[in-house]
Amino acid sequence: MRKIEHIGIAVKDLNASNALFTKLLGKKHFKTERVEGEAVETSFFQVGETKVELLQATSENSAIAKYLQKKSEGIHHIAFDVEDIHAEVERLKAEGFEILNETPKQGADNKLVVFLHPRSTNGVLVELCQEKA
Ligand code: ZN
Repeated sequence: MRKIEHIGIAVKDLNASNALFTKLLGKKHFKTERVEGEAVETSFFQVGETKVELLQATSENSAIAKYLQKKSEGIHHIAFDVEDIHAEVERLKAEGFEILNETPKQGADNKLVVFLHPRSTNGVLVELCQEKA
């Protein structure tokens, strides 16, 4: 893994949180993007080499909606940038990590993404992401 690509934060109200993080970071988000497959609306802030991704559910069935019901707003996942997502999946499987989707899926921000189950990673939902060519 090469760097922390972004930190995903679950929020209830994306507009309100965009305003909050604009004040916090001293800069505006550089994009918003809806990911239909995940039923989320996202926005991204650039902070040096790393991004902050805010996630709001667009449906009751969204993983973010379920997360907000069980927990509250806050850090939802940490995403690591990888060079070869297929090789990383094989490596992590061999190490005994529980992969939620072995076939990479389309994520926000032109990425292929794979998630690891938090029960195999000390309670942290880990995302691997690889920039699509
Ligand atoms: Zn993410």
